[in-house]
Amino acid sequence: MNQPSDEWKKKYFDSLADLERKEKQWETVESALRRCISRISFIGDGLDPTLDERLEHLRNRVRGEKDTRALLRLVEDIAAKAEGIQGKSEPLGGMASSDKFLGDLFSQATFPKTVEKRARKLAKALSQPAVSTDTLQAAKALILDALSQPSTPEAEKGKGLIGKLFAKDKEKEDERTSAPATASDHSAPTVQEERIEGQTLLVSLINQLESSLRQMDELHALAKKAASASSHRELELLATDLVKVLSFNETSAAADLLPPVDQVLLQLIERIDITKQLEPRIQALKKQLVRGIIAKDIPSILTELLQLVEYAKTQAENERQEVERFLLQMTEQLQQLDQEVTGVSAIGGELIEGSRQLDQEMQTQVDHIQSSVDHATELNDLKLSITERLNVIQERLRDNRSDNERLVEDFEHRIDLLTTKIGSMEQETASLKESVQKARTEAFTDALTGLHNRHAFDCKLEEEFARWNRYGFPLSMIIVDVDHFKKVNDTYGHLAGDKVLHVIGAHLKKATRNVDFPARYGGEEFVVLLPEVDLKGAKIVAEKIRQAVEEKPFRSGDNRVNITVSCGIASFRKGDARKTPFERADEALYLAKRGGRNRCCSEEQVK
Ligand code: GH3
Ligand code: MG
Ligand code: MG
Repeated sequence: MNQPSDEWKKKYFDSLADLERKEKQWETVESALRRCISRISFIGDGLDPTLDERLEHLRNRVRGEKDTRALLRLVEDIAAKAEGIQGKSEPLGGMASSDKFLGDLFSQATFPKTVEKRARKLAKALSQPAVSTDTLQAAKALILDALSQPSTPEAEKGKGLIGKLFAKDKEKEDERTSAPATASDHSAPTVQEERIEGQTLLVSLINQLESSLRQMDELHALAKKAASASSHRELELLATDLVKVLSFNETSAAADLLPPVDQVLLQLIERIDITKQLEPRIQALKKQLVRGIIAKDIPSILTELLQLVEYAKTQAENERQEVERFLLQMTEQLQQLDQEVTGVSAIGGELIEGSRQLDQEMQTQVDHIQSSVDHATELNDLKLSITERLNVIQERLRDNRSDNERLVEDFEHRIDLLTTKIGSMEQETASLKESVQKARTEAFTDALTGLHNRHAFDCKLEEEFARWNRYGFPLSMIIVDVDHFKKVNDTYGHLAGDKVLHVIGAHLKKATRNVDFPARYGGEEFVVLLPEVDLKGAKIVAEKIRQAVEEKPFRSGDNRVNITVSCGIASFRKGDARKTPFERADEALYLAKRGGRNRCCSEEQVK
């Protein structure tokens, strides 16, 4: 019994370890989500006092709340409140205030003649309650165009906002050399005054923005820079930065100023380990995130994400309970088995005891016969006495045989029962083992590409790093990033994007050996760990991957889509920490991107 029970134990511990791992994974996802909620909640600040209060409450609760369901209710409540505010007039988030400022800017500004018509049209569009992303983009383009136009006479006189902000350096120079203006000369302010006025406007504009987007440290920095700007060029650059903030959308700098929420959420989604049943909801969410989101989408996205997390948590909890039930059931069955075995061995005892008693009785009867023989005087009496004893012996033997037959029958029955029970227990554990194995494989596999996932990569890196530390065999890595992947999504849709990632995964598998470790690191970024391969070898592998992707055009319907990747390569060097080579490979990748993409760069090329 010892060996099978050891096996049971091992299986149970395996499944428990798996559950523990899952729970840990959930903790990570949840804490990331909490951080995310906390940061995102700042976006809605300053729009409505009751909303502010709830957001503050949310931030506090996010830190302390143990129950995701309660958190979910809170986010739903805030989403409802935010929608209410949107309904009234002001949408949630930086977008609304950006529109408003952009609208103000357009109505006040005097634009160069060449773009005046466009500006009037846009000013109208910007005064509408719902401003489209296209309008914002057009506004941004127009302001940037205006900056590169020669000044209008009005601007030269310092009338328009744009003119005040962007008086040309040359004019300043001229002004500097001319006589200073007299105090009564109000109609012609000095360029110094113009610059100061422009500067004041810029600073105040940024300050106003700060109150609606106050979490943005970058805006503070911008305001500071504007206050201390001393040249037209500096102001122009700052205004360009500001225009980016004003034209808040998925491609604007404002999106960069915010934490890259969509990217964080995409990564979170990838970590949610969910049943097929919820796949459509995950896909829909992913599609929305890949397309790009604006601030007012965030409450509903968070609500959906929290629901999915909640669902996945319940699922993990159910699984845990199921395994617990299974363990309980197995323990009961093992106890029953134990009793059965005791029963079976008792049968053996009964048989031995029966035969001992029989032995004793036989001995007694034989003794009696012996004594009858010794003391017999009459042959007839002796015959009678012996016959009597023999009858007793016969009867006893008959009883004993039937006892034995009953016991053997019982024994056989119990053995049958035991065999059946053990068989069914074996089946149950085999299926448990299979599901534990499946869950383990899934936990380490990226569903989209079938490659190892980031978690698997981190584990492998830890293992290989320890080996490298101990034995010093070469160890290299390649980061592979798809070029202009956003464009692929934007042009062909996110499903085509997903297909591209799948195909690239296949290329990575093909281009590497079994001992190499290709993984999807997140989004459109892959990483290959190459044990026992030096930098030179890694460069060859990277080039092989790059060429494989380049040579196999991808098809989306009738369209031929050329996909390329860039690679950054690094090897472990003496004194490296576990993460250092990754950072060097990332720098090399950045170099490859700057160098025109579709190329591989190694750490040696990074200055
Ligand atoms: P670069 O050449 O500089 O790498 O440009 P890029 O467009 O590839 O890089 P960027 O980081 O700007 O965009 C990556 C895009 O990948 C944005 C994101 O929406 C998309 N993405 C991330 N994960 C997925 C995914 O699982 N599926 C799809 N279809 N797109 C994804
Ligand atoms: Mg990319
Ligand atoms: Mg990338």
